[in-house]
Amino acid sequence: MTESWSVEDAAALYRVDGWSDGFFDVNEAGHVVVRPIDGDALTIDIMDVLEETRARGIRFPLLLRFQDILHARVKRLNRAFAEAIENVDYRNVYRGVYPVKVNQLHEVLEEVIAAGKPYGLGLECGSKAELVATIPHLADDDGLLVCNGVKDPQMLSLIVAAQTLGKNVIPVMEKYVEFEQLMAIARRESVTSQFGVRVRLRTTGAGKWAASGGYRSKFGISLPELIDIVDRLDADDAKDAFVLLHFHLGSQITEIQQLRAAAKEMSQIYAELVGRGVNVRYLDVGGGVGVNYTGSFEDGSINYGLQEYANTIVSAVQEVCDERDVPPPILVSESGRAMTAHHSILVVETLGAFRKDRAGDDYAPPADAHRLVGALHATLEWLRGDEALNDGVAGIVEAYHDIEVAHQEASTLFGMGFLSLADNAQVERLYWSACSAALARLREMEPEPPPVQMQKLEELLVDQYLCNFSVFQSMLDHWAIDQPFPIMPLARLDERPTRRTMLVDLTCDSDGKVGQYVSANEDNSFLELHPLNDGEPYYLGVFLMGAYQDIMGDAHNLFGRVSEVHVYGDAEEENNFWLEKSIPGSAVHDMLAQVQYFPNDLRRRMQDLIKEKIDSGAVRPKRAMQILDQYMAFFDTQTYYDTTTERKE
Ligand SMILES: *Cc1c(COP(=O)(O)O)cnc(C)c1O
Repeated sequence: MTESWSVEDAAALYRVDGWSDGFFDVNEAGHVVVRPIDGDALTIDIMDVLEETRARGIRFPLLLRFQDILHARVKRLNRAFAEAIENVDYRNVYRGVYPVKVNQLHEVLEEVIAAGKPYGLGLECGSKAELVATIPHLADDDGLLVCNGVKDPQMLSLIVAAQTLGKNVIPVMEKYVEFEQLMAIARRESVTSQFGVRVRLRTTGAGKWAASGGYRSKFGISLPELIDIVDRLDADDAKDAFVLLHFHLGSQITEIQQLRAAAKEMSQIYAELVGRGVNVRYLDVGGGVGVNYTGSFEDGSINYGLQEYANTIVSAVQEVCDERDVPPPILVSESGRAMTAHHSILVVETLGAFRKDRAGDDYAPPADAHRLVGALHATLEWLRGDEALNDGVAGIVEAYHDIEVAHQEASTLFGMGFLSLADNAQVERLYWSACSAALARLREMEPEPPPVQMQKLEELLVDQYLCNFSVFQSMLDHWAIDQPFPIMPLARLDERPTRRTMLVDLTCDSDGKVGQYVSANEDNSFLELHPLNDGEPYYLGVFLMGAYQDIMGDAHNLFGRVSEVHVYGDAEEENNFWLEKSIPGSAVHDMLAQVQYFPNDLRRRMQDLIKEKIDSGAVRPKRAMQILDQYMAFFDTQTYYDTTTERKE
């Protein structure tokens, strides 16, 4: 079977072409490669990167950041708008902003700013902490900083202060009272503060975040309030202060037509305001450009690219401006996910596989075993032998029913004390092995339609692969909103994956598992992986982690941040890359401090406890002191499973 398997089959199974956007591929050696630089064929073999990180003692789980990919995504988005503008001869420019909430990490922000410099890319913030982080990163005075979110007077006042410094900061009014507060602050400071307004449109988005738009949205100013604002500005002779109109349909926009409708609705409002003498300069269409996580092109998936997105917006605004004969505004968009998702990969190590079918061909039941053990063994032998083929699907299904009955009977007998633990263990082992043999036979026969028993067996026989990571830290959206992420082995892709698996994490939480996978299989409740080889690490890559995931993670079970390295492509370097920086994962003391435990206090408590045990004679003083040292040394260790501490016997 392995002979008929190729690396192309692997790429197809994990749908690499569907979600990789050209950045990832499989090479002839069966390894995942990264093609990080836009318009350059340079490839980096991920296994080479892992070899170097291991040599440097960097622990898993490990987040690989490809800064070149970030660069490429920023470039592609800006180029898409430039092209759309040229195509329809739009008579103004595009100025994107980076919404930092999608990934606030300083290095990510700096890379995005560097990549966006030729395009005048600005920033967007949505909270006090984000405002404080972003203001000093506004290099030139034209660079936009759009401030969304609910702002208290303290925050509005800092925004006005930044404007006083000559920075192009635009607070976007989410509520009418915010506008009143801003006016009051500006009056007190004797300045005019420019601002924007988030309008509550009738058009709603579709999908999970649809409630970000429309009448019932928690965000935005209604049309009557908008008119009130214009009247107030008229009275104060301050109409020049109103510079930006904003809407945001929500993340992962699935229907590009809805975006078009929203852009048109907003353009009508824009044209109306211009007619009333309000010189709005910017039209901000928010974020929401989708990322195709599943690599599929069905209804409900993200079936448009950056170019179609840009074309849709530019042409929609252009049409309305032409109709109403108003000058077109500067277009602003706030794409977060589309800029960042591709650039990071989480690498997790598999710690073990739990498969249930463990009776080998040479298995023989003990001589004094219970009759149920003998019966199950006979069925197993039959299923594995040639005779089973002669009886067809019906024979296999009948054998499967026999297995189920024996298993049920064993449970009953054990519950009543009539079956020993040793016999019950044999039953268990034979039951799973016989189920596995029955399934293998049914798969060989390829019955059409497959009997219902086959589906049941497929579900029963999934192996659990224990992985060194926390879903709550690294794949929060998988847990919270069932977002699937592409996961695949980073090596052995020239080998057919023969096990059906489910990935489980380190947390003591039954939700700490991956329940949905990206693959070419119709059933996405399992992932096909290779059997683990003794003494050989097996690495899985979780892709498209750069948007929200690696920044939103929580502290469930106090695992905390994973290790991180930043990789740059460079054809002059050995293996085409160099590692710029590595950031160790959270240490035990970091996580404990978050919940108010501190080494000094814990040490004192531990000392008291140990002293008591020495005094009572439970432990010798020398050994007790060793234990104290061992305990204290833990504060600096990393929180995840450390395979380097496994003793190789
Ligand atoms: C979250 C958010 C964004 C970014 O959305 P993406 O889907 O990541 O592009 C942009 N603007 C606002 C107002 C947001 O709340």
